[in-house]
Amino acid sequence: MSNLPIKQLVHDVLFQLEDSEPSELISCLNCRQAITATNYRTRVNDQHHHRFVNPDGIIFDVCCFHSAPGTIINGEATAQYCWFQGYRWQYAHCEHCADQLGWFYENDRNEAFFALIPSALSSKN
Ligand SMILES: [Zn+2]
Repeated sequence: MSNLPIKQLVHDVLFQLEDSEPSELISCLNCRQAITATNYRTRVNDQHHHRFVNPDGIIFDVCCFHSAPGTIINGEATAQYCWFQGYRWQYAHCEHCADQLGWFYENDRNEAFFALIPSALSSKN
């Protein structure tokens, strides 16, 4: 499993169960395309929000989601410079405007998640 269809995202947000926590869409800051939703948040290594420094010394904040239907996944999966041990990563771009919004991670046990850049998205990450 790599991603849910965007119809599923919109459906999940519009037709929420009354007893579940209210969910809100999270959109691409550049083009406002719906990307994911607050109820798709997940924890990886016990944290939703992670901060990393890349080999060039640039700080990245990322937030983890189990699905991001508004993205497309690009590039060859690689474990090089991987921030999450045991995972391979690919780029996650906005399906509409192609801005990079983060990365898609998957391991050998078919566990997968998206690490998205909060500053590239609308609020409520
Ligand atoms: Zn976009």
